[in-house]
Amino acid sequence: MRKIELFERELDETPIQMLSGEYGHNRFFVKRDDCIPFCFGGNKVRKAAEFYRDIRKTDTDVIMTYGSNSSNHCRIIANMAAAMGLACHVISPAEHRERLYNTRLVESFGAVIETCPVTEVAETIRRREAAYRTEGKVPYFIAGGGHGYHGTDSYVKAYREIECQEKRAGLHFDYIFHASGTGATQAGLVCGQLLSGDGKRKIVGISIARDAARGRNVVKDSIREYLADDFDKLYTDDRLIFEDGYRLEGYGSYTEEVERLIDRVMALEGIPMDTTYVGKAFYGMTEYLRSHEIADKDVLFIHTGGAPLYFDRLTGR
Ligand SMILES: *Cc1c(COP(=O)(O)O)cnc(C)c1O
Repeated sequence: MRKIELFERELDETPIQMLSGEYGHNRFFVKRDDCIPFCFGGNKVRKAAEFYRDIRKTDTDVIMTYGSNSSNHCRIIANMAAAMGLACHVISPAEHRERLYNTRLVESFGAVIETCPVTEVAETIRRREAAYRTEGKVPYFIAGGGHGYHGTDSYVKAYREIECQEKRAGLHFDYIFHASGTGATQAGLVCGQLLSGDGKRKIVGISIARDAARGRNVVKDSIREYLADDFDKLYTDDRLIFEDGYRLEGYGSYTEEVERLIDRVMALEGIPMDTTYVGKAFYGMTEYLRSHEIADKDVLFIHTGGAPLYFDRLTGR
């Protein structure tokens, strides 16, 4: 298998920039994880880089993953596999058949896309892995969204990176907001905070799809998995803020207000945000701060990527 030089070492810090426009009565900063220099960036690259280091220790022939073929996750994994000279097998739920820019990228990397009904996913993955083994190949499976220990670990590292940047700039963010989906990003940030012992700030995951009951449990399970024996000592429920009040009609839905805010951020800051994750979460953040009457705080928003989705909206998909 080939090396990816970028992933051989820890990724470079992503910039934190202060916003110029007014988005409520706080000072806003954005951490540009969308600018990670691999395949249009985003949080899936941070996660993939951790899986990369694990895969390099193995004799993997084929990287398997689960996710919609239009997802940011599948784009990054398919690119990583292509760059490593490995085969890539994506198992995709048949219910999500939209052909978006990410789909075209996944195809261009030569990934095999296998669709099956969402109810048969676990079985399909098991069958396919067994079939590869029978052929004498070594499959490496990455969970949907890069969920799991490595995914969490990548955002524990991102949390430390934020602390270093704060120290250097003489800043302390009172809040960190981000879009929360499968929950690994949030789990990593919260673990980072619990491990560093800084209890003074709030990390708020704005749910883009899941309700709080399900979403919180998944994040909490990831935190428990990561902290292992330290979980009971370090974790308290008040650290885990999974806000589900801005999901609108669920995954992928958005309103004209979300679009207006996205257009304003692009015009005033030059920062592209998509409607499924980042723009929707940024909108949720402004509403959250307004409704909780939070003012005069330093607020960091983590831009988790999704650049191809920005163009999907522009071309009317
Ligand atoms: C996957 C994704 C998220 C959600 O991250 P999770 O770790 O799954 O919660 C947020 N933003 C973008 C752009 C994503 O692709």
